[in-house]
Amino acid sequence: MNSCLFCKIASKEIPSSQVYEDDEVFAFNDINPQAPVHILIIPKQHISTTEDLDENNSALIGKLALTASKIAKDLKLEGYRLVINCNEIAGQSVFHIHCHLLGGRPMAWPPG
Ligand code: 5GP
Ligand code: ZN
Repeated sequence: MNSCLFCKIASKEIPSSQVYEDDEVFAFNDINPQAPVHILIIPKQHISTTEDLDENNSALIGKLALTASKIAKDLKLEGYRLVINCNEIAGQSVFHIHCHLLGGRPMAWPPG
């Protein structure tokens, strides 16, 4: 999608602090980190929200989680939180699916 911020980041049209890349996913540091480690993991394919998942693209969510797990192991995180916000009411501000990998500090539950 040519107007999408995260499509432009995945294609490197807009620079980011890259953490990981393969054929399907791209990971980069969040510009406004909410924890010492705050990495966004996105599919290269444009999917707006989890409501737009179907049988043809849902395996990508597993790929996001697997990538997060590998990055967390590389960073030797003791624990971490994975978050996918869906729609504005839940805090989604960029409408290209992304998994937040948050770590490096204790985290409260439930979230606000
Ligand atoms: P959401 O609120 O949609 O779940 O998460 C969007 C995230 O993208 C936010 O944490 C925000 O800080 C981050 N973000 C927004 N614009 C940019 C950008 O241009 N570069 C990077 N690296 N992160 C961004
Ligand atoms: Zn996109």
